[in-house]
Amino acid sequence: MNNSEIYTELDRELLIQKVQMQMSEKRFRHVLGVEEAAIALAGKYGASIEKASIAALVHDYAKERPDEEFQQTIRKEGFDLDLLHWGNEIWHGLVGANLVQRELGIDDEEILQAMRVHTTGAAEMSLLDKIIYVADYIEPGRNFPGVEQARELAIVDLDAAVAYETKHTLAYLVEKEVPIYPKTLETYNKWVAKK
Ligand code: GDP
Ligand code: FE
Ligand code: FE
Repeated sequence: MNNSEIYTELDRELLIQKVQMQMSEKRFRHVLGVEEAAIALAGKYGASIEKASIAALVHDYAKERPDEEFQQTIRKEGFDLDLLHWGNEIWHGLVGANLVQRELGIDDEEILQAMRVHTTGAAEMSLLDKIIYVADYIEPGRNFPGVEQARELAIVDLDAAVAYETKHTLAYLVEKEVPIYPKTLETYNKWVAKK
């Protein structure tokens, strides 16, 4: 898809087909839910509906790729080799954006960046980054304690929703005693601790 072209219904259908081929039906339904939520937030906060739609549709494009493919991409495409110590959770957005660019021809930096940071957030986030980060958390298919509050926050104060999600995701990860990716901590320090 060329940046300068208008994103038509046909483009959307083709992109949806390509995304659907990459994942389970359950994950595909999640992706469509994220698109719905992202479009609503883009309308509410004045972001590009088109970019929100595309970023949402591709955000988990690489999630079912084998580890070896991410490891190879990290080595060949000049990523920080420290990434090799992490796993699919961290790779599928950050490294996956590289696959989206190569395989789907999506070159729009705003879309790629929103995909890169959708899991961990970042200290600095664009409006589109925030929309995808939050939409991923509140999409209609999500069902966990606190999701209703996140949905309510998202429609009144997007930054508050970013902070809420960041805090609760970190608490969840700490509870599971899994390693925290440094970027996740940077997001917490900026958006929750306001450091
Ligand atoms: P999904 O792809 O729609 O399931 O959602 P995300 O991309 O937001 O998250 C993918 C997974 O990464 C989830 O299980 C998160 O809990 C997890 N995750 C987010 N941040 C971190 C982190 O800093 N460390 C680890 N180990 N996992 C994380
Ligand atoms: Fe994801
Ligand atoms: Fe997702």
